[in-house]
This record gives sequence, C-alpha cells and structure tokens, in this order.
Amino acid sequence: STPGHDESTVGHDGLIKVRGATEHNLRRLDVDLPRDRVVAFTGVSGSGKSSLAFATVYAEAQHRYLESVAPYARRLIDQGTAPKVGSITGLPPAVALRQQHSSGSSRSTVGTVSRVSNLLRMLYSRAGSYPPGRTPEELAGTFPRDAAPLDSDAFSPNTAAGACPSCAGLGRLHTVVVDRLVGDDSLSIRDGAIAAWPGAWQGKNYRDILAELGVDIDAPFRTLPAASREWLLTTEEQPTVTVHPVREAHRITRPYKGTYQSPRSWVLHTFATTKAAHLRAKAASFMTEETCPACHGKRLNARALEVTVAGRDIAAATAMPLTRLAAFLRSARTHPDTAALPPERRQAARTLITGLGEQLDALIGLGLGYLATARTTASLSAGELRRLHLATQLRSGLFGVLYVLDEPSAGLHAADTELLLTALRRLKGAGNSVFVVEHNAQVLGAADWVVDLGPGAGRHGGQVLFNGPAGQLRQVPESVTARYLPPSTPVAPGPDRPRTPRGWLRLTGVTGHNLHELSAGFPLGALTAVTGVSGSGKSTLVGRALAGAVRAHQHADGEPPPLPDDEDGEEDGGAPAADPADRVTVRSGEGLQHIDRLVVVDQKPIGRTPRSNLATYTGLFDSVRKLFAAQPEARRLGHTASRFSFNVAQGRCPNCLGDGVVSVELLFLPTEAAPCPVCHGARYNPETLTVRYRDRSVADVLAMSVEEAREFLHEVQPAARILDLLADIGLGYLTLGQSATTLSGGEAQRIKLVSELHRAPRGHTLYLLDEPTSGLHPADVDLLLGQLQRLVDAGNTLVLVEHDLRTIAAADWVIDLGPGAGDEGGRVIAEGHPRDLAGQGAGPTAHHLRRHLD
Ligand code: ADP
Ligand code: ADP
Ligand code: ZN
Ligand code: ZN
Repeated sequence: STPGHDESTVGHDGLIKVRGATEHNLRRLDVDLPRDRVVAFTGVSGSGKSSLAFATVYAEAQHRYLESVAPYARRLIDQGTAPKVGSITGLPPAVALRQQHSSGSSRSTVGTVSRVSNLLRMLYSRAGSYPPGRTPEELAGTFPRDAAPLDSDAFSPNTAAGACPSCAGLGRLHTVVVDRLVGDDSLSIRDGAIAAWPGAWQGKNYRDILAELGVDIDAPFRTLPAASREWLLTTEEQPTVTVHPVREAHRITRPYKGTYQSPRSWVLHTFATTKAAHLRAKAASFMTEETCPACHGKRLNARALEVTVAGRDIAAATAMPLTRLAAFLRSARTHPDTAALPPERRQAARTLITGLGEQLDALIGLGLGYLATARTTASLSAGELRRLHLATQLRSGLFGVLYVLDEPSAGLHAADTELLLTALRRLKGAGNSVFVVEHNAQVLGAADWVVDLGPGAGRHGGQVLFNGPAGQLRQVPESVTARYLPPSTPVAPGPDRPRTPRGWLRLTGVTGHNLHELSAGFPLGALTAVTGVSGSGKSTLVGRALAGAVRAHQHADGEPPPLPDDEDGEEDGGAPAADPADRVTVRSGEGLQHIDRLVVVDQKPIGRTPRSNLATYTGLFDSVRKLFAAQPEARRLGHTASRFSFNVAQGRCPNCLGDGVVSVELLFLPTEAAPCPVCHGARYNPETLTVRYRDRSVADVLAMSVEEAREFLHEVQPAARILDLLADIGLGYLTLGQSATTLSGGEAQRIKLVSELHRAPRGHTLYLLDEPTSGLHPADVDLLLGQLQRLVDAGNTLVLVEHDLRTIAAADWVIDLGPGAGDEGGRVIAEGHPRDLAGQGAGPTAHHLRRHLD
C-alpha cells in the first residue's frame, strides 16, 4: 500500500470524508467528497475554497506523507503542519498544482520542465547520424577516450561538453566598444570624462586610484598619452594601491586600499553578473551585440552540431514550435537517414521518437503547440506555465492520486478551456481524483461534482452551501454562485450605451514575437478588452508595444526613464526585457500626447517579505500609526508614529524583530514558521501595546479584517476611505496584517488598484490591466468592474487583456487577436463593439461571445 495510507484510512465507499474542519474561516465542516471524479470548489473570494481544498485536504495528505517518510521528524513537525481538522478518511496521496508567478531557475525552459529536452538529447546521442569516421560503430574499436560517441550532455549548451567555446553557450557575443567608454574627451577624468564608470563612491574610488597611480586626472582626457588612455580604459590588470582621499567638507576620510578595475572590465563584469535591469541596460549601452559567428547563435560546439536526425541538427529541432517538432519527428521515423542506421540504433530511434511523440501530444493537447522547446519558462505567462506542469503530470503515469489544482482556467480563452477540460478528464480516466478551485462557468458545467462555499467571505463564509452534482447547484437559493450560472447569467456593470471615444491612440508597424507590422487603435476615454486565444499576441501588443510606446513618448525629451527605486530593478510592470534579443518595436504612434500617465496594474506580488502587508502597501497604516501616536498615553510616554511600526527597533518585539513569527529550521525539510513565543504573533513589545485607541492596541488593529477596521476607523482619514474602497472591491475579508506573501495574484492586483483609486486624479491616465478578473468569482468580477468603470467615467483610458466573457461584453471596444496562437495568430481579426463582434465576427472569441450574449 501507499506510504502512510493503510487500509484503515482508505475507505471502500469511494469517498473522502472530512470531519470537523476548522482551518481559517471554516466552520467545523463535515463534508464527503467523491474520489475518482472532477470536483470543483466554488464560492466568492475569501469564502474558504482554498482553506478546504488546499489548507485542509491537501495539507493533510502532505502531512501524512511527511510522517511516513520521516517518522523521526514527527515530533518536530506535528504542531507546525497538521491542519486543523478532526479527521479525514479515504484520503489518497495528493499532488498540488498551484499558481506560480516565477519559475525559479532562469535556465529552465519548456524543454527542461517537460523533459522533451532530455529525450531529444538522448535521441541525438543514440540515434543521430554522425559524420563519416565518427559514428559509434566506427569508433568502437579505437582508444576509449576518443571512442565515446557523444553522450546526451554533449548536446546541451549548458554543459562544458556541449557549449560553443566562442560564446560559452550563449549564442551571442558582446563586445565593449572602447570609444563609447569616454563621454566627452575634452573633460578631465575628475570632471567626468569616463562615461562608463559607476556613479557615487565607486566612480570616485577609481578616479582616486588613478591619481595614486600617477595619471593626471585634471588634464583634458584627450591630452593624456595614448598608451596611458588605452591602459586605463581596457586593462585586465587589477592593481591595488593605498588611496589617500582628499579631505572633503565635514567628512573624515582615512587612507584605504583600493583596487582598480578598468571601465571595460567593469562593463563586462556588470553585464555578466548584475541582476539589476538598469545596471545591465547601462552596461549594454557600451557594448555591441552580435550573433556568435562560430555557432551562428546555435549555442553548441561544432561536434554536437555535426550530428543530425533526418537531416536537422538539434538546435534546429529545439527552435521549432512543438507542433512542427512533432511533425518533424514523425517524418524522421521513416527518413532514409534513420533507415540507414544499424538495427540497434534504429530501434532506439523508434522508441525515443514514440516517447517524445506522447510527451509532445500532451503539450499540444493543452494548446501549447506554439511554444518552442528552447523557450525560457521565465517568459511564459502564469497560465502557460501551469498547463506546462499539467501536461508533464499527465504523462507521469501516476494513478490513484489526488490532484488539487488552483484555478486551472485562469488566463485561458474559452477555446483553451475546452482543451483543459479534456486534459482533466484524461487525468481522471487514468484513475485519479481531480479537485479544482474554480469560478469559470465552463469548468463548473463540466465538473462531475460541485462544492459551493459561502455564503459570503471571511467570517460570513466557511460553510458548505451545496455538495452535489453540478446540475443541481442552481436550485440553492443562498448560493451566490448559483445566481451566475448560465443561462440566466446577469450582465456585468457597464455604461448604458457604449461610450463615444474622445480620440484614438493608434499604433502602426508593431513588430515583435508573432506580431508583424500590426496596426491597432485604442479608443481614448473608454474601456477596451484585448482578446484572443493564449499565445495570440495580447501581452505582446498591450504589455510590450502599447506600454513601450507610451513610455517612450513620455521620455522623448531625451531624458532616460527614471530608474526604478527597487534594488533589483523591477519597477511595477515596467521592467525592461532581461533578454536583449527579445524586442518589440512600434514604428509610429498617434495620440500618445493625450496620455499624461501610464499605470500598469499586474498580478505580481505586492511585496516579497512577510513585512509588507495590505496596511503598509496601501498607506493606510501611516494614518493608523499617527492615530496611536496622538493618543494621550503615547504623548505621555513620548512615543512617536514611528514607534508603532514593526520595522523600528524601539516598538517591535525583540525576539522576532517584528515578524510575529519565528522560523523553525528542520533538517531535510522546508523551514516552518511558528508564532513567536514572546509576543504570540503581536509583533510589538508590551510597552507599545499599552497605548490604546478605543480600547484596542495597534496589534489588535492589524488583526482586524478590512470590514472590522472600516467600522473601527470610520473617523480616521484617509484610512477610512482606503478601507471603503477595499471593501467595495470585494476585499472586506482580508486581514490588515496578513502578510503580502500569502496574498493571491488576484488579491494583489486589486490592492494595487485600490492604492491607485484613492489618490487624487492626476490628468489623463492610461491603465493597462493583465487579466484583472482571473481568479475571481463572478460576484467579485462585478465589484471590480464597477470600480474600473468609475475610472473610465472619470475620463481615463483602460485597456484590459481579458478572457472573461461577461467582462468582454461590458467593454466599449474589443480588439480580437488571432485566429490561433504563435505563427497562426498575431493579427487583428476583428475590432469593434462587443455586440457587433458577436454579431458578425469570425474566430473563437466571436463564437464564444455569441453563445454568451444569446
Ligand atoms: P477562497 O479560496 O475561497 O478565496 P480562502 O480559503 O483563501 O478563500 O480564505 C478563507 C478565509 O481564510 C479568508 O477570510 C482569508 O482571509 C482567510 N485566510 C486565508 N489564508 C489565510 C492564512 N494563511 N492565514 C490566515 N487567514 C487566512
Ligand atoms: P498572449 O498574451 O495572447 O497569450 P503573447 O503575446 O504572450 O500571447 O505571445 C504571442 C507569441 O509570442 C507566442 O507565440 C509566444 O510564444 C511568443 N512570445 C511571447 N513572449 C515571448 C518571449 N519573451 N520570447 C519569445 N517569444 C515570446
Ligand atoms: Zn557560439
Ligand atoms: Zn515576537
């Protein structure tokens, strides 16, 4: 039997029986869930779906698994991870597929995640055609070290055995242009002749070192001896000298040892190592970039590229979209080169091609056929990444497993959702149970079973309103979900009649990714939805071309864009592309002058540390801290507003330093966070907590939900206004102090929007939103859309990348891209008012919109 799942825990009635679940807001739930079925968990945001599906059912399976593999660790992990539930019987081992925003390693690609790369390398190694004299058979008799035909590592640009030696496997060569390192050679070094040096202290340091080395740093640069100029600009030596800095006003400067680095070395080193996008961009401006002439950008060395299958090298194969790769491999099976292989290797070719074909079918079946093997996962959308993982699971051959999926339809066009449903049914057909947390009506309609939680969010939710076959949910009067089921789907908030645009923002000659010379017009003062199947080009058009054109126009006066504050160079949604070859260009833009401001509201997390939370991010905590500092007790003790910040030493708990939790390090196991034993999660020291407002401490306020705080702080501005907005947008259930790292992408996006909404209007703003409704219950979509329509009514322009049909129907204008993905997409196939599109449009969006509007 499976580890940790003896007969007594696996029932024979096909049910997973949950008793007394009280995790988060769950109200002592007893619920029987069917195994071997597709079960959808639904309910408004915050009703408790994830608390039941993930924090209870999945967490319990995980907990039992850990106990069984590491019995000695039981003592350590028991309190930490056991979910709050009386008992669960009939529980199979579980695998979770959660939303992911980042993918870890930057080297990870579609091919590495799906294992297609591995199989391809084995195919080339074992069943490739080698040049005469180099075939495994011919080498068999020779000295073993030469004899080894290339092993599969030799086909990877990420290994020493495979990488092109000229470009170290990068495919491109970057060369520093020495002339560019000097800005104005009539200036002296002291006055800033060298443009390429870093700013601030480091630049001064290099200058002072040169002075110690005897270089005249006060003479115009061009008057220095040529040899000296050449040396100081390009040397690879790193001389160390004692620097005696000139005393600067009010600063005591002591001699120190300084090491020189020439501007060329600095540029190369920075380009190769920095994670800060703006530093990388600065370094890149002193270099030229070209395709590596040795490997022609293929990244592999000549020995690897000599090996072919059906006449193609492995670099060509990994650059093909998966659909083309599948066709190529099918043709390779009967290709003369394959037929000419010795029988043993011919057999290996057949076996490997069959395995690859199955893996590729799973990926193509989920609508990912337009991706190439070599595509980095960092450049994929969350929806693409999740389907990639799902396809990999489909091929894993596991059965008897419970898969728990978070919002698998998020980011999917209705047409892609059909493919997803087929994949889920296959997973079930292979003998597994599939639990999905979902809102999408299409998925609910196709599920075998629905568990509806509610009726509201937070403490107004946490009950099971319905647990049964999908078709019967409609008859549950208290279910908010039931109200939105087709055919009686209510219309989403929108203007009574389409708005008349105040002008147009037009882009011509948009080129990049799968867009070629595309033109598109966006109505100003209106709400536009950009639609199309996954991979059709929506993000390229909106997130790259439109955002880029507006930004470029705003900085057209020659000023570079402001550098992001954030150390790692990630400004909100505006980070320059990390890959310099990844370019999207716009030939010309019209109407850009009407836009005063650009705001990109995406689903990226609002903070990476547990210290940032809803209250700190929206700024409402500032007024809470001022409020506490103004209390008589605080004045008497001399506590200022900063004392009430858990980031400041005076006020916070000395044990957990204001985190409220301490981490418990477990050997071989993920680090667990446990409540701080000193402050019990309050984050503050006792003296801070003696200050009270209406009998509550600052820690009590952080523990309140938005809804509670709204009542408690109704007289405190601007906190009250921010809290109203948060509640209006459907986030009333969130706790003020809930750490930003536990917020979902959809919650983070709505919080960003609130931070935007509560500011005073500043001119005409263009808002770009990436799938704002993904992960939202239709009731929450209505709240969100109500707020978005307000922004448009106030005169702003909104452009959404969107799949939700109710939202698309409530837009003033639709730009539909397609008809397909990748090379089969990238064109505007229809544009106009949603009704007109549904009436006459061709293509998948018009088709689904028509069904929706009927
Ligand atoms: P749903 O999945 O239906 O959106 P959740 O199960 O995530 O809802 O949340 C249900 C309730 O539990 C909400 O009030 C939410 O704020 C709370 N909650 C969720 N996660 C946590 C957590 N890690 N710690 C404390 N409360 C949480
Ligand atoms: P959508 O937003 O409609 O899903 P995208 O704009 O993300 O579509 O993608 C359009 C096409 O461009 C797809 O073929 C996709 O594979 C390709 N693409 C997107 N981003 C990148 C990238 N960073 N590098 C290479 N190709 C990309
Ligand atoms: Zn090369
Ligand atoms: Zn503490």
